[in-house]
Amino acid sequence: MSIILNGIGVSRGIAIGNAYVYVRATTEATEYHIPAKYHDKEIERLRQALKESSMQLHEIRNKISADTPEDILAFIDSHLLMLEDPAFSEGSEAIIREFSCNAEWALQVQCDRLVQVFDEMEDPYLRTRKDDVIHVVQRIQHTLVEEPESKSEPVKLKGRIIISDDLTPADTLMMQHQKVAAFVTEFGGPLSHTAILARNLGIPAIVGVHNARQLIHPTEQLIIDGNYGVVIGEPDARSLKHYRRLRHQSVVRRRRLNQLVNKPAVTKDGVHILIQGNIDRPEDIRKLKQYDNTGVGLYRTEMLFLENDQYVDEESQFKTYKRALFRLKGKPLTIRTLDLGADKEIQESMGQGPMAHNPAMGLRAIRRCLKEPEHFIHQLCAIMRVAAYGDVKMMIPMLTSIEELEQVTALIDHARELLRHRKVRFNDKIEIGAMIEVPAAALSSETFADRLDFLSIGTNDLIQYTLAIDRIDDEVSYLYNPLHPAVLQLIRKTIESGKKARVPVSMCGEMASDPRYTRLLLGMGLNYFSVPPNAILEVKNIVNNSNASKLHSKARRIMSCHDINEIESLVDKLNS
Ligand code: PEP
Ligand code: MG
Repeated sequence: MSIILNGIGVSRGIAIGNAYVYVRATTEATEYHIPAKYHDKEIERLRQALKESSMQLHEIRNKISADTPEDILAFIDSHLLMLEDPAFSEGSEAIIREFSCNAEWALQVQCDRLVQVFDEMEDPYLRTRKDDVIHVVQRIQHTLVEEPESKSEPVKLKGRIIISDDLTPADTLMMQHQKVAAFVTEFGGPLSHTAILARNLGIPAIVGVHNARQLIHPTEQLIIDGNYGVVIGEPDARSLKHYRRLRHQSVVRRRRLNQLVNKPAVTKDGVHILIQGNIDRPEDIRKLKQYDNTGVGLYRTEMLFLENDQYVDEESQFKTYKRALFRLKGKPLTIRTLDLGADKEIQESMGQGPMAHNPAMGLRAIRRCLKEPEHFIHQLCAIMRVAAYGDVKMMIPMLTSIEELEQVTALIDHARELLRHRKVRFNDKIEIGAMIEVPAAALSSETFADRLDFLSIGTNDLIQYTLAIDRIDDEVSYLYNPLHPAVLQLIRKTIESGKKARVPVSMCGEMASDPRYTRLLLGMGLNYFSVPPNAILEVKNIVNNSNASKLHSKARRIMSCHDINEIESLVDKLNS
C-alpha cells in the first residue's frame, strides 16, 4: 500500500528511485578521565585524528569536478580551514590539559563554545554556519573512535533517494558525485545545507519530513515531488505512470527553456517586457541569476525578522540589503517594507498579543508598522541608506487609504531628517511605490499612482480580500480564482491608473508567475512582471511567443464577460 508523506519542497523537480536510509557517522562523545602523565599522548591522538579528517576532506575536494559552483567548494574549504586552524586544535588541546579529559570530550566542549559564539551572531546566514562547526567536530570525533576494520563496502548510491535526519555538505557532495536522485531529510529548513546545496546542484529535495526514517523502508521505491514537498512510498502503477510522464515532460521543457537564459523578453510585435525576480534573502540572488539578470521586483524583508525572532536593528538591515544590492551588480532592487502578521508567523518576542480573530484583516503589514513607528523608522533609514549605493526602490505593502500613505510619507520625511542630522549617506530621492493588494487600493489606484513612483499588484492578497477567501485555508482554496471577473476588473483598473499617471505598474503576486495567465495579462497591458526565479523562463517563453496587439482586443472581450466559466474557456482559447 502506498504511503504519502509531506515536507517542505526546497528544490524543485521529480525523482523516482529506491530509498537509501542513510545513518550519519555521528558519535556521542562521552567524558572520561585522562591522568596528567597521559595528556601528551591524548593530544597526539587528537592531532592524528585532525590530520586524518583533513586528509579525508582533501580527498573529497579533489574528487569534485572543475565546474562545481564556487559556493559549494566554499563549504568544503570552510571545513578545511576550521580543521587546519591552529586556534581550533590549540583550544581543544588546552581543554584536555585543563580538565584532564579525553580528546572526544575536549572537542565537544570546544564545539559548544563555538556554537554559542555563532548563536550570538546577528547575521542569520552566519548563524546557520554553526552547523559547519558541528559537522567538523563530528567528523573528528568519528575518526577518533573509528576502528580501521570497521570500514564497510561503500554502497552504490546512483539513482537512490537519500533519507536522512540531516546531511553535512561533504555527505551531500559525495552523494551528488555518485549521482543520487534526491534528498529527503527529517530536519532543516530552506536555509539548511541540504537545501542550499540541493538547489545549487539541481537535485530535488524535501526537508522537514518528520519520522521519515521510521516510515520509509530501507530500500522501498519512492516518488519525490520537490515542487510540492510530497514523498510517495510504494507507489502504485498509476502514480508511477503519472510521475514518469511529468518527469519526462519537465526535463524536455527545462532543456528548451534554458535557451532563454539572459535573452530579452519581447513579444513578436516588439513590446519589451521586464520580468524580474521575487526573493526572500540576498542569497536567493544567485539562483535568480541562473535564469536572468534583470533585478528584483519584490524583496520580502520579513524573513530577516522572522529568522532573528525579533526586530532587527538599522545597521544589520542596512548590511543585509546592501549585500543584496551588491549581488545584483547594478540591477534594480525593490525592497518591500515589513509585511508581518496573518500567514507570516510573528514571534512572541516581537510583542505578539493574543491571536487576532481574523489575522488577515488585522494588524498586518503597513498597519503594524504605522502602529510601531519606533521600529519602522529603522527599516526606512536602512532602505534609504542603501539606496545611496545603487538602484533601490522602496515598496509599501497593504496600503488601503491615502491617509495611510500620508502617514508613511511623514515617517519617511522624519527618517530623512534623522539621516541628515546624523550626516550619513542616503538617497533623498529614493523611488517609492505601493503594493496594490487590497480592493480599496485598487479602486483608489489613480490617486496612489498620482502620488507615487510605481505600483505593484499583489494578487495573492488582492484575490484573498476581493473574494473573501483565506489564502491559506485548504477548505476554500477551490474558490480562489484569479479569473474571477471582480479580480480582473481591479487589475485592469490598476494598470490603467498607472498608464494614465505614466508610472510603471508591475505584478508580483503568484498570478504573474503562472504561464496560464501571461497572455491575458499582456493583453490587459501589463509590461512588468516579478516572479519566483524558477518561473522566469516559463513566463518569458510565453511572452516571446505572443503578439501583444492581437492580445489587447482578445483581453477586452474577456473583460466584458461576467461568467467565470466563459472567462476560463476564453483564456484557454487565448493560450491554445
Ligand atoms: C501578494 O500579496 O500578492 C504578495 C506578493 O505579497 P505576499 O504574498 O508576500 O503577501
Ligand atoms: Mg501580499
